[in-house]
Amino acid sequence: MDRLVIKVGSAVLTDKNEIAKERMLNLVTLIAKLKFKYDVVLVTSGAVAAGYSALKLDKTKQIGKKAIAAAGQPILMTSYKKKFDIYNIDTAQILLTEDDFDSRKRTKMFQEIIDAHLSNDILPIVNENDITSTPEQLFGDNDQLSANVAHAVNAELLVILSDIDGYYNKNPKENKDAKIYKVVNELSEEELNDKSTANDPFATGGIVTKLKAADFMIKNNRKMFLTNGFDLGAAESFLLEEKHTFGTIFETKKAKEK
Ligand code: ADP
Repeated sequence: MDRLVIKVGSAVLTDKNEIAKERMLNLVTLIAKLKFKYDVVLVTSGAVAAGYSALKLDKTKQIGKKAIAAAGQPILMTSYKKKFDIYNIDTAQILLTEDDFDSRKRTKMFQEIIDAHLSNDILPIVNENDITSTPEQLFGDNDQLSANVAHAVNAELLVILSDIDGYYNKNPKENKDAKIYKVVNELSEEELNDKSTANDPFATGGIVTKLKAADFMIKNNRKMFLTNGFDLGAAESFLLEEKHTFGTIFETKKAKEK
């Protein structure tokens, strides 16, 4: 089966400091359908937002944010478990840092762990282990983490579910006339170095980290699809019916001609 990595951001998973249960259930339902066609790995954000409901420390301070994330991990995973149980899907939690991609030995270790999960029909749920890590050991956003995971586990496609329909020529939240790109084959230095523009108070990425993830995927001959995580219609059409209705595909020119 083809491998697929799905990354979901805080904006989709949380609402007013709480887990957005209905949206999480919709995502879990989509993954349950996708599992008939793909081996799926989920990369999820949301631990800080989930933890904040239990522990109201200052999340702008390093220790506060880490303590909240530690409190949030079990809350987030319990919430996922309850929903995946509906579909009899067993899950595993894998916490990684950028360091895990630094040495071949370490990368091989988690590749083998993920292989073991997928071949035993367990859904690996990956998140960045930012609790005891220093900033130097971290990607700092799950967009780039998910692209590295996709490459390491040899997934042809990474799907990023966000609070926007895709990549636009300018920020659509601020510009009503912004136009969506349907297919992007290459990203310029300027686009990749633009200031971060995260929308959600818990989001760390913004569009730039998604573009960096896309650039990494393109350069490694893989595909990325950026689409809406609030309404999963476009993701479902693309992944289950191979119809590209909405959302941005990032791929090399060669891949497109195939
Ligand atoms: P997530 O929590 O899903 O990772 P982010 O808030 O980090 O989401 O990033 C998505 C946000 O990036 C959008 O809501 C939008 O406000 C902002 N953004 C800025 N420029 C663009 C652009 N050119 N195209 C799309 N989104 C953009």
